[in-house]
Amino acid sequence: MAEDLMTDTHKTDTQKGRVEIDDVVIRFKGRQGPVTALARTSHVLEPGTFTALIGPSGCGKSTLMNAIAGFVKPSEGSLRLDGKPIAGPSPEVGVIFQQYALFPWFTALNNVRYGLKQFGLPQGEEIDRARAALAEVGLEAHADKYPQQLSGGMKQRVAIARTFAVGPKVLLMDEPFGALDAQTRLVMHELLLNIWRKHRATVLFVTHDVDEALLLSDHVQVMSQAPGRLIRHYHLTQQRPRAFSRSGSDLLEIRDEILDLLHPKTDLADSL
Ligand code: ADP
Ligand code: MG
Repeated sequence: MAEDLMTDTHKTDTQKGRVEIDDVVIRFKGRQGPVTALARTSHVLEPGTFTALIGPSGCGKSTLMNAIAGFVKPSEGSLRLDGKPIAGPSPEVGVIFQQYALFPWFTALNNVRYGLKQFGLPQGEEIDRARAALAEVGLEAHADKYPQQLSGGMKQRVAIARTFAVGPKVLLMDEPFGALDAQTRLVMHELLLNIWRKHRATVLFVTHDVDEALLLSDHVQVMSQAPGRLIRHYHLTQQRPRAFSRSGSDLLEIRDEILDLLHPKTDLADSL
């Protein structure tokens, strides 16, 4: 019951999932020499918080995620999870991409079980855990369907179930709802917030959609154009579910500010 009543307040600081990004720079080899994909960046994601990352295309959002996931090694600086250097992919950090990344030849249940294989659970326990995870995303009745029999939103629910079943401390989501229609997105927002409240993973959520960032997050980080760096931070404390129309909410002002940052108005006076 106490759990149910716990809404947007965070658990104690003994909770795990603290991500430290310390002076990280990421360069890739380009045809004409190294290209900076992420300018020097330092930031801390506090345990259990929900942070949206928003910025122009190509500014390095996915690169930063891939570094936290352990897929990409920083050229400079360091990344730590709960004080330990991030040396490669680990079950402590879950990743969800825009494309559902489900195995087409596995049923929904077996897609979720696949994520659990690394734990070497007894088969019965593995199946129970996978079923419970599917139930959490409302798909218990679809456990035996294959991805091509599921809608986009349902596929993304399977991906969410697969990731949360593993019990990650950190969840990285790279434009996870970008391919879904507006109505399905709203349903997914509610579902994600409910699961996040229950599991309290530290979430980093990349989106193009300012409204989505403002409706979901505790923190919004705005990135500059490439090579990206964090240029603006908003700490949002408005109760969820949020609405732009609610009086006294300054979400609309913040939305305008972020849109200005992302799409600066050309100064007419300069061009005359
Ligand atoms: P975003 O996700 O914000 O759209 P990315 O992180 O995907 O941006 O890309 C940032 C920059 O790094 C882009 O210029 C992209 O072309 C480049 N980049 C990303 N990954 C690689 C890679 N593996 N090799 C070379 N360049 C890359
Ligand atoms: Mg990207």
